[in-house]
Amino acid sequence: MKREQLLELANKYGSPLYVYDTDKIASQYNRLTNAFSGVKNLKLNYAVKALSNINILKFFKNLGAGLDTVSIQEVELGLTTGIDPRNIIYTPNGVSLKEIEDAVELGVQINIDNLSILEQFGQKHPEVPVCVRINPHIMAGGNSKISVGHIDSKFGISIHQVPHIKRVVENTGMNINGIHMHTGSDILDIDTFLRATEILFDVAKQFENIEFIDFGSGFKVPYKEGDISTDIEQLGIQLSERFNEFCKEIGKEITLMFEPGKFLVSEAGVFLAKVNVVKQTTSTVFAHVDSGFNHLVRPMMYNSYHHITNISNPDGKDRYYSVVGYICETDTFGSNRRISEISEEDILCFHNAGAYCFSMASNYNSRYLPAEVMLVDGQDYLIRKRQTLKDILNNQEVVSLPKKEEVTA
Ligand SMILES: *Cc1c(COP(=O)(O)O)cnc(C)c1O
Repeated sequence: MKREQLLELANKYGSPLYVYDTDKIASQYNRLTNAFSGVKNLKLNYAVKALSNINILKFFKNLGAGLDTVSIQEVELGLTTGIDPRNIIYTPNGVSLKEIEDAVELGVQINIDNLSILEQFGQKHPEVPVCVRINPHIMAGGNSKISVGHIDSKFGISIHQVPHIKRVVENTGMNINGIHMHTGSDILDIDTFLRATEILFDVAKQFENIEFIDFGSGFKVPYKEGDISTDIEQLGIQLSERFNEFCKEIGKEITLMFEPGKFLVSEAGVFLAKVNVVKQTTSTVFAHVDSGFNHLVRPMMYNSYHHITNISNPDGKDRYYSVVGYICETDTFGSNRRISEISEEDILCFHNAGAYCFSMASNYNSRYLPAEVMLVDGQDYLIRKRQTLKDILNNQEVVSLPKKEEVTA
């Protein structure tokens, strides 16, 4: 995205503002498809939770992607695009049997991640095919909060409990049509990934009606210059070969699935905020922007790095800043960052703001959620209006409280 265009958009739609470039989304999608072109049946399900605006979901539908959903609301959002429910996989964690039944009613593929619900579901609905989420106990992921495949993780059914799954299948007559894993975000090392896939192949072999294996996601994208990212092309070559071998072994062409979020949308998004105040203290220069962790929580929640540039003054002298928000508690986007000299009213650009940024935003401090803009072939479309006070008051009931005299009487 060009700096001049971003400045124009900040001017046109106001700040703070999220902007998503669909060209980048499409190129990431094509990169992944090309990397696995050696596999006959490939299905990419976009992880809705990364960025869930319905126009983004529609864009993915048009690319030919399916959707990976983690709540019944995400399923419903997905269905508003007119996508075939069979192209949606529902992968919740710790939800009620009722919510899973509701998803089945909507026609989507369900994925169950605990033995208790698997058994209850199998007894009631033996005719509905089910995918099971396996925890292969591989330690992966960028940090302990986003690593979900290790032994103490709350996700999936332990690989050691596969005999128990088979017993449930025998007892209920249910049908396992898919095997799934999702070991965490920010996987760098493709050998780790391949080790986990061997474990899945071993499990898949034990269920004769298997139609697909879903390898989840966790591809790492660069957040700053020099960052290493997952070598998708290399992974594609190695995993495709192994997957094709496996299909031969079991004597049928099953589907290879992935469900990436971050890989597809992280780099496609930027967040624009305006500098309200530049404050020099004894040791630090603070740049306070018209936003905070209410709009972009990843730095405060996961210590995530988001590269920050001053698009109003790209050629200024570099100085060191702490970029902070306006929320009334510690609210740091980046400390000691080298940024081109900042003046009040400059627009700062936060990079990699496509994934887990708007979708994690809140109304904390009763601030409005930002507007969202989508670029299609360079043309800008407003895809979410900025909130107003009406949105904050919506659903709040005004009750008439008893008068003070009545209470004390
Ligand atoms: C969050 C999630 C994903 C997407 O992970 P990314 O790191 O954004 O690619 C995929 N599958 C499941 C089940 C998830 O919960």
